[in-house]
Amino acid sequence: SVSVFSPPRGTQFLRLNFRFRTMASHVVGYPRMGPKRELKFALESFWDGKSNSEDLEKVAADLRLSIWKQMADAGIKYIPSNTFSYYDQVLDTTAMLGAVPPRYGWNGGEIGFDVYFPMARGNASVPAMEMTKWFDTNYHYIVPELGPDVKFSYASHKAVSEYKEAKSLGIDTVPVLVGPVSFLLLSKAAKGVEKSFPLLSLIEKILPVYKEVIAELKAAGASWIQFDEPTLVKDLDSHQLQAFSHAYSELESPLSGLNVLIETYFADVPAEAFKTVTSLKCVTALGFDLVRGSKNLDLIKSGFPSEKYLFAGVVDGRNIWANDLAASLSTLQALENVAPFVCILDTIGHLFSSDKLVVSTSCSLLHTAVDLVNETKLDEEIKSWLAFAAQKLVEVNALAKALAGQKDEAFFSANAAARTSRKSSPRVTNGAVQKAAAALKGSDHRRATTVSARLEAQQKKLSLPSLPTTTIGSFPQTLELRKVRREYKANKISEEDYVKYITEEISKVVKLQEDLDIDVLVHGEPERNDMVEYFGEQLSGFAFTANGWVQSYGSRCVKPPIIYGDVSRPKPMTVFWSSRAQSMSKRPMKGMLTGPVTILNWSFVRDDQPRFETCYQIALAIKDEVEDLEKAGINVIQIDEAALREGLPLRKSEEAFYLNWAVHSFRITNCGVQDTTQIHTHMCYSNFNDIIHSIIDMDADVITIENSRSDEKLLSVFREGVKYGAGIGPGVYDIHSQRIPSTEEIADRISKMLAVLDTNILWVNPDCGLKTRKYTEVKPALSNMVAAAKLLRNQL
Ligand code: GLN
Ligand code: ZN
Repeated sequence: SVSVFSPPRGTQFLRLNFRFRTMASHVVGYPRMGPKRELKFALESFWDGKSNSEDLEKVAADLRLSIWKQMADAGIKYIPSNTFSYYDQVLDTTAMLGAVPPRYGWNGGEIGFDVYFPMARGNASVPAMEMTKWFDTNYHYIVPELGPDVKFSYASHKAVSEYKEAKSLGIDTVPVLVGPVSFLLLSKAAKGVEKSFPLLSLIEKILPVYKEVIAELKAAGASWIQFDEPTLVKDLDSHQLQAFSHAYSELESPLSGLNVLIETYFADVPAEAFKTVTSLKCVTALGFDLVRGSKNLDLIKSGFPSEKYLFAGVVDGRNIWANDLAASLSTLQALENVAPFVCILDTIGHLFSSDKLVVSTSCSLLHTAVDLVNETKLDEEIKSWLAFAAQKLVEVNALAKALAGQKDEAFFSANAAARTSRKSSPRVTNGAVQKAAAALKGSDHRRATTVSARLEAQQKKLSLPSLPTTTIGSFPQTLELRKVRREYKANKISEEDYVKYITEEISKVVKLQEDLDIDVLVHGEPERNDMVEYFGEQLSGFAFTANGWVQSYGSRCVKPPIIYGDVSRPKPMTVFWSSRAQSMSKRPMKGMLTGPVTILNWSFVRDDQPRFETCYQIALAIKDEVEDLEKAGINVIQIDEAALREGLPLRKSEEAFYLNWAVHSFRITNCGVQDTTQIHTHMCYSNFNDIIHSIIDMDADVITIENSRSDEKLLSVFREGVKYGAGIGPGVYDIHSQRIPSTEEIADRISKMLAVLDTNILWVNPDCGLKTRKYTEVKPALSNMVAAAKLLRNQL
C-alpha cells in the first residue's frame, strides 16, 4: 500500500524538497512535415504515382522515429504519439470513427490510402471533403460530414499502432486523440441532412468507438492518454458544456487506470468551461495555453483542483521567438503553490515525488517552423532571438529542469543575453517609425468625401463602361517565369536581363487583356513569388528563412516572413513595374499592393509589442507606396486584404477591437489620395454577413470578393452594398477549378446579381488571381467573361 500526503500550500517544505523533484515536461504535438518537408515530397510523389505506398510509409516512419528520438534526447517526459498525420488529425479521427461519406465507396475494413486520400483531396470522380481553418491558425482541417445515418465503427487503428511503434523503439508515449466533443463541434451536417441537425446528439454513437480505442491502448501498455479539446476555448453554451461532462463521465470506467490529460489551447478557457473541465472526475490532468490565454493564469490560481496535474503551456507553439525563460520560470514557480508536489511514501519508506506541475507548450508545435539548425543563411544576431520546434523542446526541458532545482545557468544566461540584445538592438527599434505609428491612434483617417462623390469623380477620369471588367491581379505563372525569378535571386542572371524578361512578360499580359477587351488592366504580378514575401523583402524589419515552413493543409506549407523590427519602406516597391505597365496601355492599369492586415496575418509577428502597433507601422509603409503610385500616374490602386477575416479572434467579445484596428490600418493606407484615385480591395472569401459593417467601414471604392459557393448567402451583403454605394465585384467564376465557364453561364450569374444590385455598382471579374491557372484555361474563360459582360450591357 502507498500513502499519499500533500504538504500545506506554499510551505517551506516544498522548497526544501526541490532536489527530490523529477523533471516533468510535455509537448502538445509536433510538426509532421520534417525539417526539409520530407513528408510533403513523399506525399506528392506518391500522389503522382512516382512512388508506392511502402515508400511513403517508410518516409513517415522515419520521421516519426526521428521526432520521438529528438524529444527523448531533449529529456521530454511526456512524449506525444499519434500527432503524426498523412494529411490531417481531424480526418484521422473521422477515419478512426469510420465516418466515411458514402460517395467514397468505402466497404468497411481498415481504412487505407485508397479511401483516406480521396476524402482529403478528391479524385477524378469525387470531390474532396470540405476544408476549413483550424481555429485562428493558418492550418486547415478536413471537416467531418455527419448526420443521423452515419454508421460509426472502429475503422482506423492508427492511434494504437503509433503507440506500439514508439514502444517497440523503446519510447513510451502519450497517445493523442481529438476529443469526442471537439470532434463533433468541429463537424458539419452532411449534404441532405438538415442544417439544424444536433451534431452533439451523435455523442452516444461515437463513444463506443472511443471506448474500443481506449481499451486497445490500455492493453498495449499506455499509462497516459491525451484528449485535445480546443473547442473549450470558444464561446460555448451550457448545452455544449454539458456534452463534455456527459462524454467524460461515460468514459470514466473505460479510462480507469489511465492518466487522462485534457488539452486546451489557442486562448483562455472561459470561466464556465473552466468549471466544467476541472470537475471532470476521470480527468487526471489539464493543459492550458499560458501564452495566448491571458486569463488562464488567474483562473488557475483562483481554483485549480489540487489532486489534478497542471500542464502549463508556457512555451509558445504559434511563434518563432525564443522563450523568455526567466519570466516563464517565475510564472511556473507561482503555479507551484497551485499544483502542489505530492510526496509518496512507498512501503519501503522511500520518499519520492510525483510532479503535478508539468512544463508544456502552449499548443501543438505544428504551428511553428521545424528546426533553426537548417537556417544557415540567417543573420546570426537575429537567429539568437529565435526558437523553432526543435529549440522549443530544449526550452521546455530547461524550464522543467530549473523548476526541479537543476537550473542550467549557462543556458538561462545565454537566453537572457539574447533577449537583451533583441530589446536594445538598433535593428529592432526605429524611433521615427514608433513615433509616427503612436501618433495614429487618435484619428480616424477617413477620406474626406463620400464614396458616391468619389466614384463620380473617378468615372469622369476613367470613363468606364457599365459592368466594367477586370481581373484580380496575377496572371499564370509559368515554370519558365519561376525559373527566371529564381535565377535572378541567385545572381545567375543579370538585373538587365531580368528586367527585360519581366517587361516582356508584362507586355504580353497587357496585350492579352487589350485583345480580350478588358476595361481595367493589371500587370500580372510576374515579379512576385508571393503576395506577402514580395513586400516583406523590400521593407525593413522583416527577415526570411530558408526552411521555416509551416503546414497549411495536406502537403501544402507556407513560409511566413519574420517581422522582427519596426517596419519602414526604404524606397518604392512597385512603382517601377506599375508605371512601366501603365506606359504600355491607354487603359487604366491597377497598381497592386498587399494590405497591412494581410501582411501581418501571414507573418510571424513580433511578441514585444501589440499586433496593432505592428499593423499600423506596415500601414504607414503601404501608405507611402500608395501615394507614390498616385504620383506616378496610377489612377486605380488595389490593396488586397485577402487575410483580414482570418485574423478574427476566437471569441466574439474580442472581435470588435480587432476589426477596429484592422480596418483603421487599411484606411490609413489610402486616406491621403485624391478623390479621382480609385481604391480597390480584394478579399478571398464571401462570408461577410457578420462583418459587413467593418467591410463598409474600410471605405474602399470597389470591393472584389470570392463568390464561388452560395449566392443567396450574399444577398444581404449585397443589399448593404447598395446602401453603401461602392463598386462590388463578386467573382463571376471560380478560378480554383480548371473548368472553363461558358458565356451563358457567366451571363446568367451576372443577371442574378443584377436582380439585387444596382447596375452602376457591379463589376465583372473572376473570384481571385489567376496565378495557378494555365493560359489555355485563362484565355477562353476571360474571353467568355468579357462576352457575358457585353451581352448584359447591351440589355441594360
Ligand atoms: N492580387 C493577388 C493575385 O491576384 C491576390 C491574391 C489573393 O487574393 N490571394 O494573385
Ligand atoms: Zn483572392
